[in-house]
Amino acid sequence: MKTRHTDGATDARRRALLILGLFGGGGLLAAGRAPAQEPLAETDPTAQALGYKADAAQVDAAKFPRHAANQTCASCNFFKAEGAGGSCQLFPGKTVSSKGWCSAYAARP
Ligand code: SF4
Repeated sequence: MKTRHTDGATDARRRALLILGLFGGGGLLAAGRAPAQEPLAETDPTAQALGYKADAAQVDAAKFPRHAANQTCASCNFFKAEGAGGSCQLFPGKTVSSKGWCSAYAARP
């Protein structure tokens, strides 16, 4: 008679797959593939240094006189649209608002 041999690692893998299946682990698996991106906070030290605002209408005109009303992340050369917002080459791992702005703005050619 043939006996079935399992080791602890195999049992643990089976349990993990069962738990993932029961609790919708698809999201957990997907999250494991790419780093989670969170919105860039205006309080982030680099964001503060560059005067980033998620809403370009809130930019301090006295502090940043170079800002023009038609300048937003959506038209910036550092911006890449992704979903409702996008990413910025200056803030890796974060998302920025397409309606945002910072003093590093560079118009897309
Ligand atoms: S560099 Fe451009 S895309 Fe990035 S936060 Fe500043 S304005 Fe937005």
